[in-house]
Amino acid sequence: MKPFKQILVFLFVCSSVLFAKPTIYILATGGTIAGAGDSEIKSSYSAGAVTVDKLIAAVPAINEIAAIKGEQISSIGSQEMNNQVWLKLSKRVNELLAQKDVDGIVVTHGTDTMEESAYFLHLTVKSKKPVVFVGAMRSGTSMSADGPMNLYNAVNVAINKESAGKGVLVVMNDEIHSAREVTKTLTTSVQTFASPNSGKIGTVFYGNVEYFMQPLKAHTVNSEFDVSKLQSLPRVDILFAHPEDSTVFVEASVNASAKGIIHAGMGNGNLFPSTQDALAKAVKEGVVVVRSSRVTNGATTLEGEVDDKAFGFIAANSLNAQKARVLLMLGLTKTNNPKELQKMFLKY
Ligand code: GLU
Repeated sequence: MKPFKQILVFLFVCSSVLFAKPTIYILATGGTIAGAGDSEIKSSYSAGAVTVDKLIAAVPAINEIAAIKGEQISSIGSQEMNNQVWLKLSKRVNELLAQKDVDGIVVTHGTDTMEESAYFLHLTVKSKKPVVFVGAMRSGTSMSADGPMNLYNAVNVAINKESAGKGVLVVMNDEIHSAREVTKTLTTSVQTFASPNSGKIGTVFYGNVEYFMQPLKAHTVNSEFDVSKLQSLPRVDILFAHPEDSTVFVEASVNASAKGIIHAGMGNGNLFPSTQDALAKAVKEGVVVVRSSRVTNGATTLEGEVDDKAFGFIAANSLNAQKARVLLMLGLTKTNNPKELQKMFLKY
């Protein structure tokens, strides 16, 4: 080969390495971001009707910043989310991120249970590479659909070097949230996601990413939970407290062989007296009981009005009931010792 030709080949190889686009997998699960309806001004639509290829084709700008690959994990509204999809999704994310040539993952998901799926992956993904959940409040056929900009922003977050090591992230409406903290706060608004106890950790505006916080609770590579060999997850129910509460729900859970119960209590996780007795009895029968709260802000603390030691209850700390359920399901795959489980509720 002539020297001039050699130099050209060398420059070509260098530039293709230096300027190679990062590879991002978009794993689609369904939800409104993949929803389609008959009218752009009506709120009715079917979630999950649009395939991952069509989702990607609808936002050509993402191909300019990354080499995009798509996979369909499920096609469901996230109110249909279940253990099998969680396990499938987490295993696939781990498989992909273990590959050298994969730089990050974007998961498209319905917003109803996004906080739980994102937290499940936050605790079970074994990689520092970015994993970003994204959804939409308006379907693709709706006027002012929010999905395309959310997806563009999510891919920008996934390719951003600063996103590594922050655990699983949720990107919606120009905001970046940690999976541990984020929750859906409004039933229909595009500004539905918030992190009531900590605030958002960053913003993403037309693809420009800016972080100003770092999640500090243990996650991903520092998590002890491993789903690689799991085919199922233990049953954990949530009971919602109210005045004149009834014990029948506790009894129904125990009879249905629940391994754990999350009690979304009043205030600082307080219980109606007969429910408290029924749950104390459930603990004696081997069911793990976690006190959480039906209040959206703050923590459920040990040593409040409830004598946790006497009853054998666990306090959920600042996890809401639906996230406490995720942690307890994973915790129960390791132990059913309440002391060990309580440590997990302070750590994760
Ligand atoms: N129920 C749907 C879901 O969670 C609608 C919510 C949404 O995606 O915005 O998939």
